[in-house]
Amino acid sequence: MASIRNIKKSNQYLTVDYSDFSHEEYLALLHSGSKVEPRKKASQILLDYLCDKYGIPRCTIYILNTSYDPIFGFTSMGLYEGGKKEITLWNNRHYKVPCDIRTFINTLLHEFMHHYDYYYLRLPDSVHCKGFESRIRDLRSKLQS
Ligand SMILES: [Zn+2]
Repeated sequence: MASIRNIKKSNQYLTVDYSDFSHEEYLALLHSGSKVEPRKKASQILLDYLCDKYGIPRCTIYILNTSYDPIFGFTSMGLYEGGKKEITLWNNRHYKVPCDIRTFINTLLHEFMHHYDYYYLRLPDSVHCKGFESRIRDLRSKLQS
C-alpha cells in the first residue's frame, strides 16, 4: 500500500528531466509492426537509450507472445521487476490479437517510469499517482515531438 508520504514525494515531479531527446529510437518502435521480435528489438534500443541518458542501470525487456491473463481478463500488460531490472510486456490482447503499437508503447513507458522512479529519482516506492502519470505523459511528448 502506497503511503501518503510517498505519493506526495512522487507528485513533486510532474516532468522528467531533460527536454532534448532523440526521436529516432521512439519512431523505430512506433513503426516496428505487431510481431514480438521486431517490437522487442526496438523496445530494447529505446530502453537502452533512456537508461543511458539518465545514467541508470540498463533494463532487460522480455515480450511474451500471449495476453496477460485471459482467464481473469486483466487489462494489465506490463510488469516491472526492480530488483532484477527487468520489464516484461505481454504483446497480445485476448485471443492472440496483438495490442496496437501505441498501447504497447504506453505500457513500456509506464514500466520504464517505475525504473526511473527507483534508480533516477531514488524514490522509496514507485507509486501510481498524479506525478507518475504526469511524468509518463511528459516523457512521451518529449520523445514524440
Ligand atoms: Zn505500474
